[in-house]
Amino acid sequence: MKNFIKEDTIFNLLEQTKKRPERHTEAVIRKSLKLKGLSPAEVAVLLNCEDEVVLSSIFTAARRIKESIYGNRLVLFAPLYLSNRCINNCLYCGFRHDALNTEKRLLEDDEIREETKALISQGHKRLLLVSAEDTAVNIDYLEDAIKTIYDTKEGNGSIRRVNVNVAPMGIKDFKRLKNTGIGTYQLFQETYHRETYNQLHASGPKSDYIKRLYACDIAQSAGIDDVGIGALFGLYNYKFEVLALLFHAMHLEDEFGVGPHTISVPRLEPAQGSNIASHPPCQVSDKELKKIIAVLRLAVPYTGIILSTRENAELRDELFYLGVSQISAGSRTAPGSYSGNGKSHGQFSISDNRSLSDVIENLASKGFIPSFCTSCYRSGRTGENFMDLAKPGNIKNFCQPNALLTFEEYLLDYNPKLVQKVKALISSEISKIPDPRIRQLTSGKIASIIKGERDLYF
Ligand code: SAM
Ligand code: SF4
Repeated sequence: MKNFIKEDTIFNLLEQTKKRPERHTEAVIRKSLKLKGLSPAEVAVLLNCEDEVVLSSIFTAARRIKESIYGNRLVLFAPLYLSNRCINNCLYCGFRHDALNTEKRLLEDDEIREETKALISQGHKRLLLVSAEDTAVNIDYLEDAIKTIYDTKEGNGSIRRVNVNVAPMGIKDFKRLKNTGIGTYQLFQETYHRETYNQLHASGPKSDYIKRLYACDIAQSAGIDDVGIGALFGLYNYKFEVLALLFHAMHLEDEFGVGPHTISVPRLEPAQGSNIASHPPCQVSDKELKKIIAVLRLAVPYTGIILSTRENAELRDELFYLGVSQISAGSRTAPGSYSGNGKSHGQFSISDNRSLSDVIENLASKGFIPSFCTSCYRSGRTGENFMDLAKPGNIKNFCQPNALLTFEEYLLDYNPKLVQKVKALISSEISKIPDPRIRQLTSGKIASIIKGERDLYF
């Protein structure tokens, strides 16, 4: 397995485009608006722009692309942490093996059920299953955990899509993971800079940079169509990481005909007992994070961008406009903490501590449509099938109506006091559905949901 992240190429691209990158930005931005993506050299030009006027043109383009592909929808999810027992020693993480003062915990079946119920009761339909790496968190355990989650019902609700962020595994285990009915398998390279990676991951299975780099290849070979990649911003130079993410996406596209389903952009946050987490070696400012998200939006327009509650509410509001398509809300990062049984501290500190209902009220007040849609993967619109629909713009015929249907369900079951406040917003969004047949069907399905039907989708 060769390292397809060519560090010299990345450094050269950044060096070559350093001098007066502003000269080229207009052409690059114009190209990005055709929604066909950008080359690494073009991305390097954008990353090197520091000029405020040029940056604001990049932000405007990101906003246009976001609106044209994703409309005003934002998909919501929450993480569910299974375990904080870790055999690795990632120096930035509150769960690492040598971290002291943490109650080590691996959730059992009934605890997973309680956590799931607590999340369903908030209104969640999509979970990201997260775990530290431990021999006990093997495929048998994960199969049972995922079955428990899907089988748990609470009122009208249930979890309809489980995405997974756990340590990489072999192809046989990935096949079993796929058969549990997961959506996306995601794994962050943390830093693509090999020397920095080696310094930060001195011991444990995660210390193998190449094995981690190929984890998404193995997941895709095992039939998991949707994979998610990411970098932990703050560990190394952000321009290098963005280009490396792009090279990773291009590698997956070359190998499997489809790039990553999502890219995550976590920033390093303080974590109990980690000096590095409190003093990031390459601190990324808010302005730089905006640039990272906007440039990614221009570079890979059809790849979802995920933003977590690591960022504060105010900044998140701004980033929604620049290209983010999925957000977590009401999150906790310690195992057992939703059902009130988690005494340990979380993996890292969270900056947006609002409840799901507060986040939703805020989104709706700004004209966003919160979506709990899980229709694509349940209808087989994954991997290449999804991209074949998304690229000519056809996914809008599914996403917008499905967002409205799941929002309506959420309102009736979990936030009735908001129903009246958003009535006009929902009607106006229905009237904007271009295909008259789908518009009519959407109104019909909404009427059925009001009468008590659930889980209707296109
Ligand atoms: N243990 C597995 C792993 O490391 O890939 C799976 C999930 S780990 C619990 C989830 C992610 O949390 C890591 O990939 C890392 O990017 C992120 N993380 C770790 N420490 C962090 C910190 N101090 N601030 C923000 N994110 C952090
Ligand atoms: Fe363990 Fe993941 Fe934290 Fe590393 S980032 S110490 S592997 S939980």
